[in-house]
Amino acid sequence: MVPMKKEENETELVQQLRLVPGLKLKVDEPLARYTTIKIGGPADYFLDVETGRALIEALRLFDVHRIPFCLLGKGSNVLVSDLGARGAVLRLGAEFKRISWREEDDHALVDVGAAYPVTQLVREAARRGYGGLEFAEGIPGSVGGALVMNAGAYGSEMEKIVERVEGVTLNGASISLRRDEMVFTYRDSHLPSGTIVTAVRMRLQKRAAEEVGTKVRELVSRRKKSQPAGYPNSGSMFRNPPGDFAGRLIEAAGLKGKRIGRAEISSRHANFIVNLGGARAEDVKSLMELARSEVKQRFGVELSPEVRFLGEWPSSVGGS
Ligand SMILES: Cc1cc2nc3c(=O)[nH]c(=O)nc-3n(C[C@H](O)[C@H](O)[C@H](O)COP(=O)(O)OP(=O)(O)OC[C@H]3O[C@@H](n4cnc5c(N)ncnc54)[C@H](O)[C@@H]3O)c2cc1C
Repeated sequence: MVPMKKEENETELVQQLRLVPGLKLKVDEPLARYTTIKIGGPADYFLDVETGRALIEALRLFDVHRIPFCLLGKGSNVLVSDLGARGAVLRLGAEFKRISWREEDDHALVDVGAAYPVTQLVREAARRGYGGLEFAEGIPGSVGGALVMNAGAYGSEMEKIVERVEGVTLNGASISLRRDEMVFTYRDSHLPSGTIVTAVRMRLQKRAAEEVGTKVRELVSRRKKSQPAGYPNSGSMFRNPPGDFAGRLIEAAGLKGKRIGRAEISSRHANFIVNLGGARAEDVKSLMELARSEVKQRFGVELSPEVRFLGEWPSSVGGS
């Protein structure tokens, strides 16, 4: 049998996507390289989206061809299935990395694209002498991902600095939400289902640059002392239950250092699972299930995942 040439095998959708300016398509693209834990099977279609127009056109084509899709920021709080993701995975780039500063007397309004790296923003704010974002130093996400997750640390979180969120709905309509139209809770922003965040406006307070820099350095050193370094991970696997810490409970259940396959509950911080090299999503998921059941059995506390499960999962976990 003569093997079918790749071009002959391309679907109409693939051909149409390739024609859209500002879209870069990869077919059957392994996702592990786009996640901080370095785990994840292939996406049918992986799209780097460089402009707002390209985003709208991609959404239109997905609608026509009935293709499911999901967003990936910097992949620092996701667990992608070993089976990968059916349909499309979108990653915002170029136009979504823009930033503009409006500096007033005692504050600045920053309009920043969803693909902008959080740590870069923190450092820029510190250099200009604006406070409010210091907590986010060391969070390896994008602004869009941080907004969606209501990322936080050391007593602060995104909701405290957000003024407005710009986005696009599933059918490609623009959406703009003021702070008072949004509800944030711990690690959740409750955006209308399917919203793609394209930009965020933040309000930061003027401070002495040394003051901001000192606080950032202090929080970096606290982070270094408590979090595992050296092995790929996805940050905290579970949300902290009210009044307690997931890491403390998992440690108290005797699971620090527990391994399944090449995944390990970090011996540094039990709410982290590290990839020792070659770990599978299935290994990580099994460790999470073990941690949940042990903590439930010993302490009667139900842990709920903080990481978002992306892609095609065989059974109970469920993707998004
Ligand atoms: C070492 C380490 C330390 C961490 N420390 C912290 C911490 O202190 N505090 C904390 O809160 N988190 C922490 N995290 C977790 C993570 O960095 C944050 O949640 C981060 O904000 C996620 O951003 P991301 O761009 O990587 O999003 P991703 O992980 O790529 O995506 C997260 C979710 O957001 C969705 N999403 C991403 N971008 C968009 C968009 N533009 N529009 C709509 N949906 C989108 C994705 O579909 C997914 O559901 C840590 C992670 C690591 C690896």
